[in-house]
Amino acid sequence: MSSRRSFLQKLAAPIVALPLLSEKTKAGSINPLAMPYQGPVLRVAIMGLGSYGRRVADAMVACKKAKLTGVISGTPSKIKEWQSKFNIPEKNCYNYENFDQVKNNPDIDAVYVITPNALHHDQVIRVAKAGKHVICEKPMAINAKEGQEMVDACKAAKVKLLVGYRLHFEPKTLEIVRMRKDGELGKIMFFQGLSGFRAGDPTQWRLNKQLAGGGAMMDIGIYSINGSRYMVGEEPIWVTAQETKTDPVKFKAGVDETIQFQLGFPSGAVASCLSTYNMNNLDRFFLNGEKGFGELLPATGYGPIRGRTHKGELDQPHITHQTVQMEEMAGIILEGKQPIIPVDGEEGLRDLKIIDAIYAAVKEGRKVSLKV
Ligand code: NDP
Repeated sequence: MSSRRSFLQKLAAPIVALPLLSEKTKAGSINPLAMPYQGPVLRVAIMGLGSYGRRVADAMVACKKAKLTGVISGTPSKIKEWQSKFNIPEKNCYNYENFDQVKNNPDIDAVYVITPNALHHDQVIRVAKAGKHVICEKPMAINAKEGQEMVDACKAAKVKLLVGYRLHFEPKTLEIVRMRKDGELGKIMFFQGLSGFRAGDPTQWRLNKQLAGGGAMMDIGIYSINGSRYMVGEEPIWVTAQETKTDPVKFKAGVDETIQFQLGFPSGAVASCLSTYNMNNLDRFFLNGEKGFGELLPATGYGPIRGRTHKGELDQPHITHQTVQMEEMAGIILEGKQPIIPVDGEEGLRDLKIIDAIYAAVKEGRKVSLKV
């Protein structure tokens, strides 16, 4: 532990090179994490020390532009453990009652909200009012109304709001997006998104409408929604959707088990997607154009993502998604860097508008037009 602690202490700004990979990646591009760095560092507090929060914290150890400096948690024992593991001083530790006081903490620039979905709205707005930038996990909120309020609050407070869309920085994903933009796939005709896994423990918050805001669509279906937008490169103008529920005891009212949905885009391209909490082995994106195709399989797991196109296998290197995400988000917040695929609050809000429309289409059994 002490050698890890001294390693972490050396990370304090200014930070010098961390040799994560060789300076040249397999694809020949420069790997920024292997280059020396002495610039500004984004100091981040994580709110919600659960399984994904821990994954982000571990991944941030390899970042050069982002550093974990604080925690916000309702569990004192976890705070102690994280303090010792990540060398976090007592003055940077908060709970859900007192975290508004980050306002007065110069060691924290941004708070990363990684709590159950239904809590994001209030927590993000409180962080914004405390004058700190916010990174919020997906789904950004549980409906578009809440999402809009979060965007507005961050704008009013003049802080940035980013959403934890880690795949927006994933190299094989970006290569297919590049090929589509450069016309290598021709006119885009069709996207298929399959997103699902079998939800286990029936008592987990993901199956509690109060905390999750819905079911599979909020948690895993959102990957196909978001993916259809960045793969096709357009915003949908209509949705249709059909729900199937085989286990109404486990998946109670308002917690969707399986929804198939279709999206129509202005060019005439269509997407056909599946969101489920009741099937494994479903993590595939397929984009088809008049001249070629791109496939990601798996498309959204923690990686390595695998992909191929009509030109062959994709061989871009795997770097831990959350490391690249935090490095890039630090660049966006500190340097105004523009990501290839947006990760801001407006982007999160578009997905929420589509989720609202999908739930309306299921409920009303009709095609729903939308403008995102
Ligand atoms: P966990 O249940 O593992 O952790 C959530 C944490 O939130 C808890 O450990 C707890 O931390 C805190 N919390 C605060 N209030 C509550 C409450 N009422 N009930 C339960 N937990 C509470 O969930 P995950 O980490 O898997 O998910 C958190 C968020 O991250 C979700 O929005 C999810 O969609 C997103 N996520 C994103 C992923 C991605 O790849 N981008 C992957 C997985 C999740 P504490 O004890 O410290 O207060």
